[in-house]
Order: sequence, then C-alpha cells, then structure tokens
Amino acid sequence: MRAVYPGSFDPATNGHLDIIERSAKLVDHLVVAVLNNINKTSLLTVEERVELLKKITSHLSNVEIKSFSGLLVDFMVKEKSTIIIRGFRAMLDYEYEMQMAQVNRQLYEEVETILLVTKYEYSYLSSSMVKEVAKFGGDVSQFLPKEVSDFLINKFKKSEEKQ
Ligand code: ADP
Repeated sequence: MRAVYPGSFDPATNGHLDIIERSAKLVDHLVVAVLNNINKTSLLTVEERVELLKKITSHLSNVEIKSFSGLLVDFMVKEKSTIIIRGFRAMLDYEYEMQMAQVNRQLYEEVETILLVTKYEYSYLSSSMVKEVAKFGGDVSQFLPKEVSDFLINKFKKSEEKQ
C-alpha cells in the first residue's frame, strides 16, 4: 500500500510529524508531498520545507519526501498511489477536508482519503498559529520538532540582522 500525505508544511509541526509517524505504520510506503503553491506566499521555500521534513523523518525508513505543484490527483497517478492521508483536528477542518476529499474523488474515482484524527495535545496546533507566534517573538519550540525550531530561530535572527 502506497499513500501520499499532501500539505503545505510551512513549517512542519509536531502535529504533522505525529500524522506522518502514525500513517507510516499503516502503509508500506508513504510519500509526504509538499505543495508548491505559487498563489500562496509562504514563510519557507519549498526546498527548505522538503529539507526539514527529510531531517525530521530520517528515522522512518518507509517515508519519502517530495514536492509537487498542480493537481494532487495528477501527482497521485504519477506516484501510483490511490490513498491520500490527511490530518483532522477539529470541526474547523471538517468542511475543508470533506470538500477536498469529494473533489479529489470526483477527479479520480479510485482515490480514497483517510483522515487521521490528531492527538489531543496537537488539536489546536497549526502552521499559521506557529508563524503568528514566531512573528511576535514568542517561543515556538514546544510546537515544533527541534530541527524545525532551530531553523526558524536562525531564519528570524538573520532577517532581524538585515534590518
Ligand atoms: P494545507 O495547507 O493543505 O491545509 P497543512 O500543511 O496546513 O496543509 O496541513 C496538511 C495536513 O495536515 C492537513 O490535512 C491538516 O489538517 C493536517 N494537520 C495540520 N496540523 C495538524 C495537527 N496539529 N494535527 C493533525 N493534523 C494536522
């Protein structure tokens, strides 16, 4: 069984890592697919997001990190996978995840979306919340894998030095 876990991962949080670790146990091979969305401004470049995901999943032998742009279903065909993994936090995710799952099935009939319910402690955690806290100098290390947190601290330090 080959599955794909798509997302922006801008940046990857403990919540994302939890979903990756748990889904890696359910499938033979998992591709974490970083969306290169040219319409959305991101904090990290796609290359940075891919590199960080590679670092934090280096202990998982059946996990591969890739990037993609365009339609997810086209990427699924290329990857020879029909299983999409998504994380589900709260009712806030419900509308969006349902819509995505229905549209993706409409576009590619064989595709199945599996929603993994987040661990309780990560149910409030999102990349946008982390970015908001980090922007105002708050400590985000508790929300992020160490490699991601160190990278962000460095990135913010460098941009402050430039100003
Ligand atoms: P997108 O921009 O596609 O929503 P994200 O990178 O924000 O991508 O998230 C990718 C997937 O991971 C989504 O299914 C999202 O619901 C899920 N996710 C994000 N944060 C968490 C978390 N704290 N716990 C569980 N799932 C999460």
